[in-house]
Amino acid sequence: MARYTGAVCRLCRREGTKLFLKGTKCTSDRCPLEKRNFPPGMHGKDRKAKIVGYGLQLHEKQKAKRMYFTLEGQFREYYEKANRASGVTGELLIQQLERRLDNVAFRLGFAISRRQARQVVRHGHVSVNGRKVNIPSYQVNAGDEIAIRESAKKLLIVEQGAQNAAQSPLPTWLEMNFETLTGRVLALPKRKDINLPINEQLIVELYSK
Ligand code: SF4
Repeated sequence: MARYTGAVCRLCRREGTKLFLKGTKCTSDRCPLEKRNFPPGMHGKDRKAKIVGYGLQLHEKQKAKRMYFTLEGQFREYYEKANRASGVTGELLIQQLERRLDNVAFRLGFAISRRQARQVVRHGHVSVNGRKVNIPSYQVNAGDEIAIRESAKKLLIVEQGAQNAAQSPLPTWLEMNFETLTGRVLALPKRKDINLPINEQLIVELYSK
């Protein structure tokens, strides 16, 4: 499946929840979901059926997949890996999503959304332990130092991201120096550290059928 390149606000309206794909717009009254919280399309307003069972599980998977901007195949791989490992499958699934380099770049304030952070990583502006890494799905580890490379420190997108992040609390598993735009992974994230409205158990139920 190709990466979705259409209007991302439609994805939120389809899922009926904020996926936070547009940075500061998402927390302002310019968010389309504030006024049009119904599915997009001509008959969107008329679709009022309550989602239950399989539909609910599918909805939860789509929501998580879109929040972290991953493709179907990659998302499934995260589940398979979590299922093979020892521990709570749902938690391990979310942990892998949270450990993605594009997500960490977003959390540290290198961009104002995961979507933008993905671009920042893709364009080679981020280093891990002093080496350039341009793979958004790269999994960070405890102790890793994640930084914006010197050549990108003055990028508007990075400055906006840092300003935005400096105003909100950083996840407890990360630390950040906003002077040097360098962060560190203090520990791998636990489920309680990840404040996203995702019911991972429903996703596990969907894939384990
Ligand atoms: Fe979703 Fe953000 Fe668009 Fe609102 S502004 S619909 S939260 S992407």
